[in-house]
Amino acid sequence: MNRIPTPIDEIIDEYTKSANIRLFIKREELNHPTIQGNKYWKLLYNIKEAQSQNKDTLITFGGAFSNHIYATAAAGESSRIKTVGIIRGERIQPLNHTLQSAVDFGMELHFITREKYKEKQTTSFLDELHFKFNNAYIIPEGGTNSLAIEGCKELGSEIEQQDHFDTICLSVGTGGTISGLISSIQHADILGFSSLKGNFLEKEIENLIQDTNNNALCPWEINTAYHFGGYAKHKPELIEFINTFKQVHNIQLDPIYTGKMMFGIYNLMEKGEFRKNARVLAIHTGGVQGINGFNKRYGNIIL
Ligand SMILES: *Cc1c(COP(=O)(O)O)cnc(C)c1O
Repeated sequence: MNRIPTPIDEIIDEYTKSANIRLFIKREELNHPTIQGNKYWKLLYNIKEAQSQNKDTLITFGGAFSNHIYATAAAGESSRIKTVGIIRGERIQPLNHTLQSAVDFGMELHFITREKYKEKQTTSFLDELHFKFNNAYIIPEGGTNSLAIEGCKELGSEIEQQDHFDTICLSVGTGGTISGLISSIQHADILGFSSLKGNFLEKEIENLIQDTNNNALCPWEINTAYHFGGYAKHKPELIEFINTFKQVHNIQLDPIYTGKMMFGIYNLMEKGEFRKNARVLAIHTGGVQGINGFNKRYGNIIL
């Protein structure tokens, strides 16, 4: 991989000072103008694989606000592969920012009912898609597969070459990104913040690591205390935190993933959960594209 690593910036404020920790942020939201964040790494080898198989179409799945849909459409445009997005639920006009951007990148959208969407992993549904688009490469919802984990392992290696940290934090959805980091980081603990409600992720991540013939190289855990009601749910204190963080540090966090992670880090700092002088890295996994649609829906609450 030939790229200039994204910067790691230190975050200093009254909270980091009084907790006596060194907090850093890996600016992966700046890694690519459109694909952005962890989705860049998750798609990297999938696109290469589709190209080496001479596929002419990428098909994937997602909800109407999905960062993965947006990123796949952007990646298809920049690698000149046609993209098809299978979207959960009915078409709502005008399209929201995420879906309109996907269309602008050239993605063809197919809306299916929520019932039908539940069958998206079944052989019959996938056969149907392969029949309709006869030379397509199918990427699962959220983009998590073994090639995605391979890509995220490169992110882990890059971080280890850049600097040393005691704890590396990131937000977790399907667990694909953290699986790659757990399989590549050797000199730090990894702390994942779940954006979803429930305690199923640890098992799922263990399975992902095992099924892709990887090994956990470092201690890791999932914190489930900062989901704010569940996936795509939020609370006023989260929004206030995101707005203050931007004001103070000039870094935009998103309300679905990175804002919840950073809120969690600040809360753990205040509770004294990190040891004194610990070096803590937060990975900014992107997701900023979602703010436009979020604000349209909830009335411009993110400044
Ligand atoms: C998709 C996404 C995640 C979750 O990544 P997983 O690999 O599904 O765990 C985290 N942060 C952002 C900003 C995302 O878009």
